[in-house]
Amino acid sequence: MNDKTTTIAEIKKHIQDFSDARGWRKDQNAKDLVMALSVEAAELSEIFMWLHSDNADSVKENAEEYQHLQEELSDVFWYVCRLCEHFDIDLARAVEEKAAKNAQKYPIEGCKS
Ligand SMILES: [Mg+2]
Repeated sequence: MNDKTTTIAEIKKHIQDFSDARGWRKDQNAKDLVMALSVEAAELSEIFMWLHSDNADSVKENAEEYQHLQEELSDVFWYVCRLCEHFDIDLARAVEEKAAKNAQKYPIEGCKS
């Protein structure tokens, strides 16, 4: 899989199949999924916790940390997809609709400096 050739629907299906094969989906509810998402977001934050903000991009230069970054981002996206599936949310549509809302809230003219 890669970003250029894989659809969000394909990723959601992959996650569903993976979870179903392990019997996870039947036991996890919305609260569990939101908590798991929160934990994974915290694990992502932990990578940067003691780095000075000027050095945050250095994570990419350390192979082990860069791999860790990719894994935690994947974990976060995993639970975003699980929540979308749980609540029957079309993520692409939700992003598009929120972007339109943000465009109203933050017009380009007000953002240029
Ligand atoms: Mg994790």
